[in-house]
Amino acid sequence: MSTTAVSLSMPAVPRRRRSPEEVAAAAPVTGPKRVLLAAPRGYCAGVDRAVIAVEKALEHYGAPVYVRKQIVHNVHVVSSLEERGAIFVEENEEVPEGALVVFSAHGVSPAVVQSAADRGLRTIDATCPLVTKVHKEAVRFSREDKHILLIGHEGHEEVEGTYGEAPESTTIVNNPAEARTVQVEDPDNLIWLSQTTLSVDEAMEIVEILRQRFPKLQDPPSDDICYATTNRQGAIKEIAPQADLVIVVGSANSSNSVRLVEVALEYGAKASHRVDFANEIDEAWFEGVASVGVTSGASVPEILVQDVLRLLADYGYADVAEVVTAQEDILFSLPKELRATMKAAGDPDYKGVKSSNLR
Ligand code: SF4
Repeated sequence: MSTTAVSLSMPAVPRRRRSPEEVAAAAPVTGPKRVLLAAPRGYCAGVDRAVIAVEKALEHYGAPVYVRKQIVHNVHVVSSLEERGAIFVEENEEVPEGALVVFSAHGVSPAVVQSAADRGLRTIDATCPLVTKVHKEAVRFSREDKHILLIGHEGHEEVEGTYGEAPESTTIVNNPAEARTVQVEDPDNLIWLSQTTLSVDEAMEIVEILRQRFPKLQDPPSDDICYATTNRQGAIKEIAPQADLVIVVGSANSSNSVRLVEVALEYGAKASHRVDFANEIDEAWFEGVASVGVTSGASVPEILVQDVLRLLADYGYADVAEVVTAQEDILFSLPKELRATMKAAGDPDYKGVKSSNLR
């Protein structure tokens, strides 16, 4: 049998996109073509704040500004900030001593804060205030000698940060299967917390399994799944039953974007795909499709959604109806270290501003 060697470094040959007529010939569409555009979608207040923090750090301190981990989980945002002088690193050890480092929206453990201090780094903490809330709860419950069952995806930066607040008092529960088998020392002294970007339904399913096994399991004072995750899932739940196809704009490492694909399928979308950019859309997805749902994860700038809508219009999906299921007007104040610098420099944006450059 002969084999053919394929060079993985070979640049991909651009694929010829099939025309709308060719797609229609492959599988005719019955009924009018339309787009159901989810609202809310895209940037949440925590992402907006984190992106502005890097933009303002570049403006006030000059490049380079180091950022530990991706500031938010979006390929376009990260590369846009890199072009403007941000340097993304995995760990503090990669940052030159004394330099400025921004901690990402997903939060960091106390060990990371300490390692920055040990290297004499100047820091701006862009952790989303809703993640900080979960950290504070972990610290408090640990001090109260409770054991925390942290529902979330092991290895995700947010879960690493929250776990790091009280590792000796925390057990991570990844999924329903782990909820059925997790072992604890004192079943009478348990409380659950969760990652902010989970599927609302799956998190509640896990809590119910845990509660059946540990009837004295305590609830946190408020749900940890954040408003942005809940609202974006709520909008896609409304759209999915009417959609032949749901396109989610978002990066592969964006937990809430990946959850939107899962929720769309669970709530009746016939197909659902995640793309970073419009050019990743395969026109074969449109065969026989009348109704396309579109949404985007909480770390996705609106310009990427608009690119998708333009491509859809080219294929005859020009009729766009926005499906609004919630209003959002949350704006978090910028990290305090940055606010002080901005105020001293006379920058009026220290009072609060929405990022615009990447939208
Ligand atoms: S998704 Fe929620 S927790 Fe995460 S940055 Fe946005 S608002 Fe904060």
